[in-house]
Amino acid sequence: MSTVDLRSDTVTRPTAAMREAMLHAEVGDDVYGEDPTVNALQRRLADDLGFEAGLFVPTGTQSNLLALMSHCERGDEYLVGADAHTYKYEGGGAAVLGSIQPQPIAHDVDGSLPLDKLAAAIKMVDPHFARTRLLALENTWHGRALPLDYLQAAHDFAGERGLGIHLDGARLFNAAVVSGVPAREIARHFDSVSVCLSKGLGAPVGSVLLGSSALIEKARRWRKVAGGGWRQAGILAAACQYALDHHVERLADDHRRAAALAERLRGIAGITLLGQHTNMVFIDVPTEQLRALDTHLRAADIRISIGYLPTLRLVTHLDIDDEGIERTVAAFASFFGH
Ligand SMILES: *Cc1c(COP(=O)(O)O)cnc(C)c1O
Repeated sequence: MSTVDLRSDTVTRPTAAMREAMLHAEVGDDVYGEDPTVNALQRRLADDLGFEAGLFVPTGTQSNLLALMSHCERGDEYLVGADAHTYKYEGGGAAVLGSIQPQPIAHDVDGSLPLDKLAAAIKMVDPHFARTRLLALENTWHGRALPLDYLQAAHDFAGERGLGIHLDGARLFNAAVVSGVPAREIARHFDSVSVCLSKGLGAPVGSVLLGSSALIEKARRWRKVAGGGWRQAGILAAACQYALDHHVERLADDHRRAAALAERLRGIAGITLLGQHTNMVFIDVPTEQLRALDTHLRAADIRISIGYLPTLRLVTHLDIDDEGIERTVAAFASFFGH
């Protein structure tokens, strides 16, 4: 019986076939630009998503940071969701390391940042103010895919206001799969996109930042400054290549399992289903029962994350099969006395 780990889609372990691909990766020194597997990964994602260039980096946090530091300079400002990963969950890196001021904007329920609020937040050109330079969006946001017509509107808005536009696309492929469009259809609205291979796609490590050649050259310099200039990283890039070859379409399975989990949990008295989007299920249970629930689930070898978000977030991924969903439903049901 294997652990059903619903805390995040980052917990996946490389499959045997992925490890095999890593074993045979051709490698070189990536600081010299000589790792063929890294170069192939960067080229492939740039071509697929419609950009001039790509940069392979260890984490999505670093990828977003390099993007912000490449779009903005010291004393500049970026508009970002008040609950966006970039703003809230990345240690304030843009401010700490880039001297870039965030201007958080309250999200609409669908995750979009209302254009009227964005317009009102743009500072006039005056020494009193930081220079508003960039709009940063996130897709998916808490599992929600931003509406495609909103992306078009946000793109046009940024263009009219002279702002750059960046996407934290940690789960870009989940958004593409649920929207039924190629990822490129989402990416084309942005000047830069950060994609994680280490989430639902199941690679052990790795994100790629995409953008113009000029932007990626700046990002490459900042990556070195941030200590992210790595060497024979092709071993990791091979895992990412494997993930792109084999783990994109199957994201639909994670979405289907999340929908099934939501539907089954909804029927259990004591659980309030708040929503299900792509591979995430959000539920509320009485706060005073959370610890006991966690203990009960652990006894059935099921992991959830309590206390990190105000609601419970259950995430499906590559390492959770139909049996895992059954076991989870049964454990929740027995806890609530059904
Ligand atoms: C996971 C994640 C990131 C980057 O996370 P790392 O753990 O640094 O790779 C960025 N944005 C979102 C929305 C994420 O979920």
